[in-house]
Amino acid sequence: PADVETLGRSTWTLLHSIAATYPKAPTWTEQNDLKSFMKLFSKLYPCWVCAEDFQQYIKKRDIRAASRDEFGNWLCEAHNEVNRKLGKPTFDCSKWEERWRTGWKD
Ligand code: FAD
Repeated sequence: PADVETLGRSTWTLLHSIAATYPKAPTWTEQNDLKSFMKLFSKLYPCWVCAEDFQQYIKKRDIRAASRDEFGNWLCEAHNEVNRKLGKPTFDCSKWEERWRTGWKD
């Protein structure tokens, strides 16, 4: 299997990309699909300690999926929680869309 760092980098790319393409005004079905996906993802993520902590995080901070903005920020906060745990710098969540959807201006 991929090492925890490579797996993590690829997975954050996938998850933030899902947030970036999530509708601004999702239907009830889209919201439920995203929440179900995230809950199953948290059980299947093939780094078991990571998965366990992520499941705990989801229990503590309910997945927010009422809009792109809401989910993007929820995911950014979740990623920051992992950054803190690993002693990495936290990311300014007002910039998540610039990083993952529209791209940096430079
Ligand atoms: P990453 O954290 O992988 O980030 C990739 C890029 O995302 C960064 O370069 C930056 O541009 C951007 N970014 C950074 N923070 C944010 C943010 N808050 N919002 C939006 N964009 C951001 N590793 C462990 O060792 N232990 C764990 O318990 C653990 N749990 C994890 C749980 C999950 C759900 C995931 C997906 C990964 C987990 N990882 C864990 C892996 C870890 O988060 C990193 O992916 C890995 O350490 C590589 O880090 P990196 O410095 O390359 O940047």
